[in-house]
Amino acid sequence: MVKENDYFRSGGLSMKQKSAEILAIGTELLMGNTVNTNAAYIARGLAQNGVNVYHQEVVGDNPQRLLDSLTRAFSRSDIVITTGGLGPTYDDLSKETIASYFGRKLVLDKESLQHIEEHFRAIGRPMSDNNRKQAMMPEGCTIFPNPNGTAPGCAIEQDGKVAFMLPGPPREMKPMFEHYVLPYLMKDSDTVLVSKMIHLFGIGESLLEHRLHDLMVSSTNPTLAPYAKSGEVMLRVTARVARGENPDPILQPVIEKVREMAGEFIYGIDVGDLQTAAVRRLAEKGLRVATAESCTGGYVSKRITEVDGASAVFDCGVCSYANEIKEKVLGVSHETLEKYGAVSPETAKEMAAGIRRLSGAEIGVSTTGIAGPGGGTEEKPVGLVYVAVDSDAFCQVLELHIPSRGDDAREYIRYIASSHALHLVWKAAGMAK
Ligand code: AMP
Ligand code: MG
Repeated sequence: MVKENDYFRSGGLSMKQKSAEILAIGTELLMGNTVNTNAAYIARGLAQNGVNVYHQEVVGDNPQRLLDSLTRAFSRSDIVITTGGLGPTYDDLSKETIASYFGRKLVLDKESLQHIEEHFRAIGRPMSDNNRKQAMMPEGCTIFPNPNGTAPGCAIEQDGKVAFMLPGPPREMKPMFEHYVLPYLMKDSDTVLVSKMIHLFGIGESLLEHRLHDLMVSSTNPTLAPYAKSGEVMLRVTARVARGENPDPILQPVIEKVREMAGEFIYGIDVGDLQTAAVRRLAEKGLRVATAESCTGGYVSKRITEVDGASAVFDCGVCSYANEIKEKVLGVSHETLEKYGAVSPETAKEMAAGIRRLSGAEIGVSTTGIAGPGGGTEEKPVGLVYVAVDSDAFCQVLELHIPSRGDDAREYIRYIASSHALHLVWKAAGMAK
């Protein structure tokens, strides 16, 4: 797996003032059967490396229309990155078509053929003749090996224009883009872009922009750009420095200013996500956490256990959907459930304390709420969630009113609730001695 942060962190720009286009090839994309995630991924990578992208296009597996798109793209831009159509089947025509655009023939690349043969030997399946086609490469191109599949990628450069051809499957495309395309584009660059990502939780994007507006518009090196994603906001601070130069003197003053203006919402820099921040902090402090989840149904424990090293800090999770389990397993009192109901601050609190008692972990965290779409009342509407944390140094119950709009409201409510739970764990771990 390619970690986005690792490669978005550094880069440069050789083709100064040049722009790139992304051309996704595949009828399945036009039909809406596959979402064009490749374009988004490549666009982000290019933007982070200072390459301008003014156009993206999707075209089906049709040589004439592909040729049209390619001609149009190269009339505006010097770099065209295509994905898809490198497969073994009759409809995979990217290489043939793009090679013909440059007036090149396809020739057999022995090394690629060897790799494809090895691949089939390793999986114990016979190689069909059309797989040989995948080793036919445009004359004079630069070949990019594909350790995750059979189709190699390549670059053809001619008259100041360069076409990159990448495979369609994201798990093959992403590493190739990182390991070959970006270095290819950056090879002559004397400057590099270095970014740090500030992660914030508990503040909306518009409010953050309001607070930081002056700083954002006045910052040119480094630049400061906000990104919002599923209830979180990130600020990317990007400096352009000479190759080999330490970027910290440029980055740190702006990071410090952000800390002064919105420090209470920052949970980390380049930490990845809330679960990673929480797990790292627990590990640093030698603490363990246990979860008692109702409306999130295991989401909190799932996110904790996504993090490498979770076993050192995660004790157990109880998915206590039924009141009986809240009572019998977690020790929530019958009176509390009767008097206040399952979705109440009192129940949340007792769940967190209960799982802590049960597991012996230093920190207990709980969720209980109404994820909808049914089950809401006027008093307790859909989106009402209580999240509680219990530890020696810090106990808190949050009452959340998570907006429930759209088809994925249930998923959104559960996800946001789990984020708050993870944030509380992070906070509690920070306050522990
Ligand atoms: P291809 O290389 O065209 O045979 O594509 C193989 C598979 O890669 C397709 O069936 C899709 O599942 C996936 N794929 C192709 N293009 C894209 C894209 N632009 N974004 C995401 N997935 C894609
Ligand atoms: Mg295809």
